[in-house]
Amino acid sequence: MDRDRYLHETFGCDDPVLTRILERMKERDMPPISVLPSLGRLLTLLVKAAGAKRVLEIGALGGYSGVCLARGLGRNGTLTSLELSPTFAEFARSNLAEAGFAEQVRYRVGPAISSLASLVLEGARFDFVFIDADKPNYANYLEYALQMALPGALICADNVLLGDRILDSANQDASVVGMRTFVKRLTSDRRLESVGLPIGDGFAIARVAR
Ligand code: SAH
Ligand code: MG
Repeated sequence: MDRDRYLHETFGCDDPVLTRILERMKERDMPPISVLPSLGRLLTLLVKAAGAKRVLEIGALGGYSGVCLARGLGRNGTLTSLELSPTFAEFARSNLAEAGFAEQVRYRVGPAISSLASLVLEGARFDFVFIDADKPNYANYLEYALQMALPGALICADNVLLGDRILDSANQDASVVGMRTFVKRLTSDRRLESVGLPIGDGFAIARVAR
């Protein structure tokens, strides 16, 4: 038994609702890049522990992480989820509805940068942000997240290790360069306290000062 399987089985990360989403994604040939079950569980716990009521997700895919985030919300919390693909957004919406969150989730379709610019203009504020979309834009997403973050908000990001490509300092791929800029900003902003964890493809958590 390896350590991942041990932890997965011992902490009971198997979940029929989430497993069903993964099965449907497979039937649709969607990319298998949802957060891992353990990271999904961590997202739920983080939202609950932070007492977050207004969650922003950037990158919905099939709604796997969306369900995990929504599970952390109380009955009067809301999830705003940004997704480029109308097909993915519609599919994610139906999965969130089936999981019982139809009234609590809103999808915004199109490039996340445009949706974020609109949210800023509308005066939207968030107490939890999960960044998990196109990697070259992570630093831009962080700027918008900071503009809309309430004091004490958590800003989290998936894939900060980029399959370990981030470790090669000579790598100049747009994703790697974008992620470096993101991490630099996350770790140098005086309003942020942050940590990087080796869970999945690397996960960062930052807290905005109160
Ligand atoms: N958070 C999801 C996985 C997201 S995968 C989960 O764990 O369940 C990344 C998603 O970002 C994909 O669905 C992709 O369509 C979306 N995406 C890519 N570029 C984007 C952009 N410019 N704006 C918004 N979404 C984007
Ligand atoms: Mg990811």
